Amino acid sequence: MRNRQVLEIPQNVKRRLKQKYPCCICGTNEDLEIHHLDKFPKNGIIRLNVVCKRHHRAITYLETWFPDFYLKVVVPYLEKKSISVSLNEIMPSLLKFMKSRKVGCYGEGKNSKVVDIF
Ligand SMILES: [Zn+2]
Repeated sequence: MRNRQVLEIPQNVKRRLKQKYPCCICGTNEDLEIHHLDKFPKNGIIRLNVVCKRHHRAITYLETWFPDFYLKVVVPYLEKKSISVSLNEIMPSLLKFMKSRKVGCYGEGKNSKVVDIF
């Protein structure tokens, strides 16, 4: 198995996103899940997609078994429909920890539009 390590998003944040957004592929409001477009934050921003269970399974399948197709076709599609969440807003203590350890990237996102989910 591949390493599937991702930054876990707090449950309350996931819940709010699913209340606010439908599946970004088919538009349903049922059985919604969160896809981590970014496994880890870049510039203090993590991009997520709200997707229904069926589409999440399809995305994960392509990501696992057809990584080239996933990167070239699926990711650009999901990028257009992604929700950028600021770590500063959802988990400030983690951001502080990353800064203190100089882990990863943080600061202002260049092209990221951060949506207010609260
Ligand atoms: Zn769907």
